[in-house]
Amino acid sequence: MLGCPASFSRRSDLRRHVDTLHTPRFDCPVAFCARKWAYGFIREERLLEHLRTYHHWDIPTKQQIKDDETLINSLRENISSLNGDKNSLGDTISSLGGKIGEVEAENGGLRKRIKNLEETIEELETKNKWLERRVLVLCGVVTDVMRLGDEAAQPSE
Ligand SMILES: [Zn+2]
Ligand SMILES: [Zn+2]
Repeated sequence: MLGCPASFSRRSDLRRHVDTLHTPRFDCPVAFCARKWAYGFIREERLLEHLRTYHHWDIPTKQQIKDDETLINSLRENISSLNGDKNSLGDTISSLGGKIGEVEAENGGLRKRIKNLEETIEELETKNKWLERRVLVLCGVVTDVMRLGDEAAQPSE
């Protein structure tokens, strides 16, 4: 090729060299642009450069793509750290759930004890009433006995 210093003893090597380094593979997609076929671009980058500068297409440069990738990666890191936060929140919530269960179990035990105490108090009150009644009965007996004693002491008519 003109201006190319490479030389090859084997035909297949030459063909491969020409095919990869001197054969335009990338045509300009713009209608009526001359940069097609034999006047196309050997490397895709050059076609993109041509589209960007000659046709003013809005094609991001490598640096812009790199910046976008950096942004995407940092967003991805943010998302994964948020996921980490979410997981630790989940742990906190489940441990709080466990504590709530413990407190509820304790509460249940206390409620049972209160109920037992209430039953005991009711029993005692019943017993109390029964004792009161007995006291009243005994008082009645005592009054009767005293009256009988009085009557016995008085001289009969
Ligand atoms: Zn060459
Ligand atoms: Zn073009």
